Amino acid sequence: ADDIAGNLVAVAVLARGTQGMPRSSGLSDDLFVHDGQITKRPVRALALSALAPRPGERLWDVGAGSGSISIEWALCGGTAIAIEAREDRAANIRSNATAFGLAHRITVVTGNAPEALAALEAPDAVFIGGGLGAAIFDAIWPRLAPGTRLVAHSVTLETEALLGELQQHHGGELMRIEIAHAGPLGRYRSWEAARPVVQWSVVR
Ligand code: SAH
Repeated sequence: ADDIAGNLVAVAVLARGTQGMPRSSGLSDDLFVHDGQITKRPVRALALSALAPRPGERLWDVGAGSGSISIEWALCGGTAIAIEAREDRAANIRSNATAFGLAHRITVVTGNAPEALAALEAPDAVFIGGGLGAAIFDAIWPRLAPGTRLVAHSVTLETEALLGELQQHHGGELMRIEIAHAGPLGRYRSWEAARPVVQWSVVR
């Protein structure tokens, strides 16, 4: 509850304070209630860039975690359906959507993909932020209209291998994101590498 209250204050300060809400995607991780499972700020900015939101478009955010991708999508004027297996994370998504004043544009579906996707209206774009397997992809791909964007991220070798195969069959762009942050090393500083993330983006 403290997290959520703090988050509401942070978002309110950003929205109404002297600084205002930044217009760029890749907002601070601190603006979202999360349990560590969040697409981190610089990687999230690259996800939004590939998703290319336009006003009025619908996103499926599959494995939505904290909902940060859905929120940044909705900030660009679209609507999002956030599908998340864990009830505690679904609650975080609702809190975050409310804190950003976006509860009316983000629908939270608590359940497992692909079953939880069955009744959803077709999207303009799909983000798969984790847990992608062949069964999920095979359930989603045939339902996408031509022109639909799909962006998938992987951090595991297993999902990365799948993305490699999928790009071979369906084309699109594979990109490896390697980021390091400077941190202390004794009296000095050094680079601390984050786990690499592989992004596959493709248009149906
Ligand atoms: N993009 C998110 C982070 C995603 S972490 C953010 O920025 O916050 C991946 C999430 O996918 C986890 O929360 C996990 O619970 C969820 N997940 C994994 N497999 C899933 C499935 N089959 N259906 C729904 N959610 C799933």
